[in-house]
Amino acid sequence: MGYSALHSFLFMTYTTLETMERYMIIVAGGSGKRMGSDVPKQFLPINGKPILMHTIERIKQYDGNISIIVVLPEGQTSYWQLLCREYEFDVPCTIVFGGKERFYSVKNALTYVPDGCLVGVHDGVRPFVSDETLDRLFEATETNYAVIPAIAPHESVRMDTGDSNSIIDRNIVKLVQTPQIFHSSLLKKAYNTDYKPIFTDDASVVEHVVVNKIKLVEGNRENIKITTSFDLMMAEVIYENYKS
Ligand code: C5P
Repeated sequence: MGYSALHSFLFMTYTTLETMERYMIIVAGGSGKRMGSDVPKQFLPINGKPILMHTIERIKQYDGNISIIVVLPEGQTSYWQLLCREYEFDVPCTIVFGGKERFYSVKNALTYVPDGCLVGVHDGVRPFVSDETLDRLFEATETNYAVIPAIAPHESVRMDTGDSNSIIDRNIVKLVQTPQIFHSSLLKKAYNTDYKPIFTDDASVVEHVVVNKIKLVEGNRENIKITTSFDLMMAEVIYENYKS
């Protein structure tokens, strides 16, 4: 879609940014097999409380008016309800079932998001996104339809094709985080497509509709995606150092 066609498509659906409602889809529909635990990683504790609760609270602390949609594995909703009672967790959330891939989990959640608003998609296993990152993201949506946080790698970076490998200038490489924020009409349109394995985040799905329109803003390094038991150990350290 060309920029002017996209602009008029989106312009029809919203008035002004100040009046735009905000939604945050928090995806926690995965089984978390890489953690090597029977309990999905999003339910494992940091400082004695499930990771997913920390993530939901982080977003709600930032914006008390945001509508939160949480995607859970279909078989885990009663376990989640049990956890909510145990931890007296009462942040209002709409619960949606996850799909086989993250792509399907987001697609399910988008059916609960209207046109004409801002929608973020955030990994349930990233409890440490900072207020500053969230400020940068939402500010940038005033002039961009798709905004994502990213940080520069500290390590050297190589491309490995199997047959050969070669250095990549690390100054042109970014590590992508979440939440990724979009004008909802664009994200809903983008997700109206078939799954492709390259869709590992939401920006990659949007890129199939509009080319070169993803705005990068600086993320925060402690906004890690808790994937392995090593990450969980790091998360305890980050929690101790960053808790307010
Ligand atoms: O699998 P991956 O590490 O990319 O998962 C990132 C986030 O997406 C996690 O919070 C996970 O729970 C979620 N996810 C999901 N539905 C899936 C797979 C992953 O909501 N089918």
